[in-house]
Amino acid sequence: MRAPGDILLISCYELGHQPFHLASLCAMLQQAGYAPATVDTAVETLTEVAISRARLVAISVPMHTALRLGQQVALRVRSINPSASICFYGLYALLNADYLLLDTIDAAIGGEYEGPFLNYVAAVEQGKTESIAGVATRQFKSGPWIKRTSFIAPVRLDLPSPDHYARLETNGVASLAGYTETTRGCKHTCLHCPITPIYHGRFFAVPVEIVLADIRTQVKQGVGHITFGDPDFFNGPGHAMRITRALHQEFPGITFDATIKIEHLLKHRHLLPELKSLGCAFIVSAVESLNDNVLRHLDKGHTSADVAEAIELMAQVGIPLRPSLMPFSPWETLESYITLLNFFEERRLIEQIDPVHFSIRLLVPPGSALLDTVDSPQWLGELDSAAFTYRWRHPDSRMDALYEKVAALVERAERAKASPIETFFHIKAMALAISGKDVDVVEAVQEYGSPRVLPHLTESWFC
Ligand code: SF4
Repeated sequence: MRAPGDILLISCYELGHQPFHLASLCAMLQQAGYAPATVDTAVETLTEVAISRARLVAISVPMHTALRLGQQVALRVRSINPSASICFYGLYALLNADYLLLDTIDAAIGGEYEGPFLNYVAAVEQGKTESIAGVATRQFKSGPWIKRTSFIAPVRLDLPSPDHYARLETNGVASLAGYTETTRGCKHTCLHCPITPIYHGRFFAVPVEIVLADIRTQVKQGVGHITFGDPDFFNGPGHAMRITRALHQEFPGITFDATIKIEHLLKHRHLLPELKSLGCAFIVSAVESLNDNVLRHLDKGHTSADVAEAIELMAQVGIPLRPSLMPFSPWETLESYITLLNFFEERRLIEQIDPVHFSIRLLVPPGSALLDTVDSPQWLGELDSAAFTYRWRHPDSRMDALYEKVAALVERAERAKASPIETFFHIKAMALAISGKDVDVVEAVQEYGSPRVLPHLTESWFC
């Protein structure tokens, strides 16, 4: 197992970034004396030679899209090299382990995966994989591994260089974008979030020196911008500020973005001007919906009034807020969907939202905290294991029809690289058409005027 390529680490999709979860596991394995090969199928070809040589293949599945792609890769690995052990690791691995372990993979690890994975490698070497703490197999059920990892800096030199990935565009200038994480897990327990059934409100801080070492490596590779991909950058605001201060002191020209929940933006508002002065280019925030009934059902910790306040606050501070949305859930109504569209149009915020967000539909993976809510029998359907989600239908069938149309439109628009403003008004026209109203899209686009060009990453976000 210690020969080069005996262990093959594969990433399929990580939001258009150089895959952090390959780099992180690669570092742990190298430290333990292994020589893993890495392939990011988002930008590299996975060859038959690499598959045939491997004795153990680990596929990173940190999100739903990565899981779907990873499943296809696992099936290919199985057909080319049936004797290789296949392990999925990352947020979505364990949630879907029961189904995947039937015939696609041999092991699944959720939570802080590095330690259990090293134990799994040793067990595969010895041919004793029956019961390893933190590793779910056909013979052994395991929950997530939620214990602090002894973090080390990710190893990135064998990965494709940053120019294969998304860039930050600011004022027409594109700079290479890097990615790192300062924490793992989340201290909140929003009911729809896949982190909740894995971390149950726990999070771990990555030591400042390790985060900075990872940033240094990427800056040497030419990166001019860093995405802090923590589930929430302000779970530990003191930690976040220590890191951004140190980053700015060492690399004053490097900008960054981060994801911060509305509640934290309001609570820690006094930190925002400093964040701006340290190089914050924009903040992503999971607004999800502006319907307070939806927000209550998700236990999001904010209201629509909080969102309006946070948007105002961010405008005053001068940091663009890029909302992420999930407007198709059983509790959204046609009226509240239209209200959401009007809200962003009236505040001239359309260009701050990737159109894909207007088409995001609630996913309910196995283990979701939503399964235990009292009203779930009213809206929840059967588990569709192969799709990695429970089925659900909207009580208003017009919303399901609207979802299908908006999702298809957004996909077409993405492919055609259509103007986000135009796409927005086509979506609005679709929503209004259901209630017998219409909107002249050409006129609406003209009235909206020239869109502002805000700092953004060149790859849209898919969960
Ligand atoms: S704050 Fe964000 S990351 Fe944390 S549980 Fe809620 S949705 Fe998930």
